[in-house]
Amino acid sequence: MRIAVLTESDPAEPRVAAVPETVKKFIGLGADVTVQSGAGLKAGVPDADYAAAGATIASSAADAAGDADLVLKVRRPMADEIGLLKRGATVIAIMDPYGNEEALGALAQAGIDTFAMELMPRITRAQVMDVLSSQANLAGYRAVVDGAAEYGRAMPMMMTAAGTVPAARVFVMGVGVAGLQAIATARRMGAVVTATDVRPATKEQVESLGAKFVAVEDEEFKQAETSGGYAKEMSAEYKKKQAELVATHIAKQDIVITTALIPGRPAPQLVSADMVATMKPGSVLIDLAVERGGNVEGAKAGEIVTTDHGVKIVGHLNVPGRLAATASNLYARNLYAFVETLIDKETKSLAVKRDDELVKATNLTHDGQVVHPAFQTQS
Ligand code: NAD
Repeated sequence: MRIAVLTESDPAEPRVAAVPETVKKFIGLGADVTVQSGAGLKAGVPDADYAAAGATIASSAADAAGDADLVLKVRRPMADEIGLLKRGATVIAIMDPYGNEEALGALAQAGIDTFAMELMPRITRAQVMDVLSSQANLAGYRAVVDGAAEYGRAMPMMMTAAGTVPAARVFVMGVGVAGLQAIATARRMGAVVTATDVRPATKEQVESLGAKFVAVEDEEFKQAETSGGYAKEMSAEYKKKQAELVATHIAKQDIVITTALIPGRPAPQLVSADMVATMKPGSVLIDLAVERGGNVEGAKAGEIVTTDHGVKIVGHLNVPGRLAATASNLYARNLYAFVETLIDKETKSLAVKRDDELVKATNLTHDGQVVHPAFQTQS
């Protein structure tokens, strides 16, 4: 079995899908691993480290991918990469399938078997493969670091000979994986932290991290979590009450970190331009939902917007990629854990069990067809 690790062709993607530690493990499973030269450079891994782990270094994507049975990537292969893959090859990546049915069709037509890591079910067995969690956790941490860097004041309270410096007030909106890490990081940095979410279960989690929970806790709030553990889209009436509460709270905050998402829907807008206008000059908003439409009115994907009265709205893209080395390590381990379930240890080759729930949930294309029920287009 030949495994190829390609350099990400998107210049905005610094992560890499395998690190020397996972290359060694793949070789331990009986695979030959080829790494495209330079694949790990932006994540701090030189070719020599892959070679020392036992990989062959290929000078081009074509050389690396040409005879590979399994291709590991961070992002979905683009049109020019598909042509490099052999028919029947398997690709595992963060495939971003929603709204990209045409690209999936092209992969199917090329006879590529594709798996989307972000569709991994959030069950105990698959926790080790959960890329949404591994990457969101880092995004939550990095949001606080970015917020602190943009904020022109200190985070912790300091009592100095020259006087007392007050602690920064940090408000985290959306307490999933990213939000919880943002709370923990802001607390470690000495900020006074409050947080909000629509799922009642988050109240206890927020308080256990030493932060204060702020939310409209009405009857709708008590029912706001789906059986899958995600948030429902809230009613217009709830959103109005939530907006009133947020409006009074946000005016006193120094750093606001928004992470609110609803599966399969645009991100809910939680902070209006009017609310931003009540914040003090020098305050910072970090919108982690900007790639899905944003939680903050006025946030721009890939930009830092400074409002007329001096509030910064930060809309960095690919926030986990801002910690490329750590993000790659965790992603590579998630990937390895999944690939291990696809390999027959006796024959040392890919043996995908089509009835495995992990395979069913993540397999997008197989045998020339788009096989995932969520992405089949009507012809
Ligand atoms: P997510 O990225 O889908 O959303 C982030 C947060 O935004 C969520 O907490 C959501 O409730 C919140 N939100 C949505 N609309 C909002 C609104 N209008 N106002 C305020 N907040 C709003 O969430 P996630 O990080 O993927 O986590 C979702 C759930 O999955 C959590 O219950 C988490 O514990 C669970 N989870 C389970 C596993 C596992 O069992 N393996 C792994 C990871 C996460």
